[in-house]
Amino acid sequence: MKTVIGNWKMNGNIDLLHEVVPTLVQEGLGSTVGLCLPYPYLGAAHLLLREAQSGIKLGAQNVSEHPSGGHTGEISAGMLKEFGCRLVLIGHPERRSMYGETREVTARKLHAALDAGLYPVYCVGETLAQRESGKAHQQMVDELSLLAGVPTDRFAIAYEPSWAIGGGVTATAADISEMHGFIKDVLGAGTRVLYGGSVKAHNAAQVLCLGSVDGVLVGNAALSASEFLSICRIAD
Ligand code: PGA
Repeated sequence: MKTVIGNWKMNGNIDLLHEVVPTLVQEGLGSTVGLCLPYPYLGAAHLLLREAQSGIKLGAQNVSEHPSGGHTGEISAGMLKEFGCRLVLIGHPERRSMYGETREVTARKLHAALDAGLYPVYCVGETLAQRESGKAHQQMVDELSLLAGVPTDRFAIAYEPSWAIGGGVTATAADISEMHGFIKDVLGAGTRVLYGGSVKAHNAAQVLCLGSVDGVLVGNAALSASEFLSICRIAD
């Protein structure tokens, strides 16, 4: 069973939520599917999924490193759990590049999520410059060192090369297999590794058929109920 997680980013609206959730529920999809939504939609999504007794997993796209206190505008891991979240994305490349999230920050967020019992999907991936200068593997080792000692059933890795996100360029099967194999060598064969970067209905089968790919993290294509459903069917 391969996993499909939709990441809406800062997109969508309540009407889309009322289209996507029933579409997935009607298909009988369960715990291998996840939806990482903007914060304001989590409460409504939680109610819809609970009413339908669906196993689809709800998630957030970010979390505070702090458990509570004077942190205006932040959302804690405990609050996410209260609104039905089981997943949280940590260290998405857009957060690192646009919001200055350093490895120190992502490490603290990772542990805040783990301490609260959330399942972090820790995003790692090289920039084009790192790839071209031959530094992709070293920076991967540095990132993965944060997870040393964490049991592999408590998190997933999303390999998201930043040059492949949002732009329509998917990494090749060879690139993906090589990096997923490398991640599993570093963290252990049991580590779940998802691929993210321009996964669409038309190329999902090529990615999902790779033995080292345990699932996909889907951005733009998760904003269409029918396209996201097609990807889930391919993964099922
Ligand atoms: P994309 O986004 O599918 O639009 O490339 C993936 C992601 O950023 O998680």
